[in-house]
Formats: sequence, structure tokens, C-alpha cells
Amino acid sequence: MDTTPKIETPEIETPKIEVAALRKQFGELVVLKDINLKVAAGSVVALIGPSGSGKSTLLRCINLLVTPDGGRVRVGEDSFAFGVGSKPPRTRELARFRTNTGMVFQHFNLFPHMTALGNVMEAPITVRKKPKAQAREQALALLAKVGLADKVDEYPSRLSGGQKQRVAIARALAMEPEVMLFDEATSALDPELVGEVLGVMQKLASEGMTMVIVTHEIAFAREVADRVIFMRDGVVIEEGPARQVIDAPREPATQAFLGHFH
Ligand code: ADP
Ligand code: MG
Repeated sequence: MDTTPKIETPEIETPKIEVAALRKQFGELVVLKDINLKVAAGSVVALIGPSGSGKSTLLRCINLLVTPDGGRVRVGEDSFAFGVGSKPPRTRELARFRTNTGMVFQHFNLFPHMTALGNVMEAPITVRKKPKAQAREQALALLAKVGLADKVDEYPSRLSGGQKQRVAIARALAMEPEVMLFDEATSALDPELVGEVLGVMQKLASEGMTMVIVTHEIAFAREVADRVIFMRDGVVIEEGPARQVIDAPREPATQAFLGHFH
């Protein structure tokens, strides 16, 4: 019996994100095995799968926080190849690439000694050399967009988890990234705070931001994502339109995984 999963990779003219033949291992442990991924501009891809399947490593390879061992990663116009015969990216290229891919983590990592406003203004001023007045105006607009117009002068210690995470999203957006990556952005939140963060993510999606989200919020993935990718043990097992994968998964492994949520 042929047990090789059939992966249907969509034909996308010029995907905003393209990952090809991506490989990564930590020591002996192979964490990503020949991952191929295309994300159309303005679309949302949800990455689901059991803990340890390589979802975070894949996201970190997309913004090159983790250096792949092989394959190619492209976001927008910037493309890098890894492995035998490839030149490692230069530090400046890497820095530019990372600012173009906003990332939001499970833990907010806000600067504790800066207000919400200060957190959002920081990188545009120091990295982008934006004039302070302009950075401030942009930060105020972004904080209003995530529903925190009344919290701009608060320090992180005085914000709830959901508010902190919304500041973290505003901070990532301040770099005007072409794509946004979310790694379990709501997993550390108390249940009653999850909705306000998902609401901001949904709004971004509806405005046309290209997004890859790792999430355990299956209902949210079904609602907001265009496509869902199910990973296990460093391999893409199944990929398809969100509702098809979630409502009628084809692969037994996907069925078993989703079974835990029903
Ligand atoms: P997921 O996000 O799906 O839970 P991860 O990408 O975090 O999975 O991890 C995949 C595997 O890689 C796990 O076995 C994890 O322990 C291992 N791993 C992740 N990062 C590192 C690292 N920096 N060094 C060694 N092993 C790692
Ligand atoms: Mg993870």
C-alpha cells in the first residue's frame, strides 16, 4: 500500500512567501524534512500539528531566526538559498529580511522599561532611522488600530496579557512588514483574553496582510485561514483549503489530531 501522503501544492503565480526543499536538523534530530510551502499575497495560512512537529522551527526558518540546513526561502523580493554551494546571507541582508517579516511570539517580550508607545516607536527609530515625531504618530495610529488608544502611556506591567500581545502586534506592524508570522500568539493567554487578540489578527487578515499563523485555535483557523497545513514529525502531511482540511481531513494522522479538538 502506498502510504505516501498526497500533497496538493496550489499553483500560485507569485507567492509572497515561498519555501522550497527546506531542511533543518538540530544535531542528530531532523526537525524539518523537505518542506515546500507557498503563501499567496494577502492570504492566511494556518499551520497546525502536534507539539514537536516543527511548526515553530518552520516559522523561524521563514524569517531566518533559525538558519536552514538546505533549501530556499523567499519573502517578497528577498530570496536565500542554503546548503551545499550556497553563500550564507550577509548580516545586513539578514537584518533587512527580518524586518520585512513581522513575528509575534507566544510570550510578548515587550521592553518592560518602556510604555506601550515607547515599545512600538523603538524599532522604527533605531533600525529604520525614522524621525521621532513620525514614529510617534505611526505608533499612536497602530495602538489605536489594535484597540489600545487609551493605553499608550502604560507600562507592560500594568497591561493584561491580551493587551500586551496587542502591543506586540502593533510593534511588529510598525516595521511595515510584508508578511506577519504568529507563533501561538494566544497560547499563553487566559481564555477570556484570547478573543481580543484573535480579533486583531482577523482584522489584519481582512485588510489583506499575508500571514502564517501557528495556532491551536482550530475554529479560528477554519474561519480566518484560506489554507491549512497539517504537520507532523517535520513533514507536511496534508494541505488544503481551511474548511476542507478541518471539516473533512483526508489523512488518518490529520483525522486523529483534529479528533482531539472535537
Ligand atoms: P512545534 O513548534 O511544532 O512544537 P518545534 O519546531 O518547536 O515544534 O520543535 C521541533 C523539534 O525540534 C522538537 O523536537 C524540539 O525539541 C526540537 N528543537 C527545536 N528547537 C531546537 C533547538 N534550538 N535545539 C535543539 N532542538 C530543538
Ligand atoms: Mg511551537
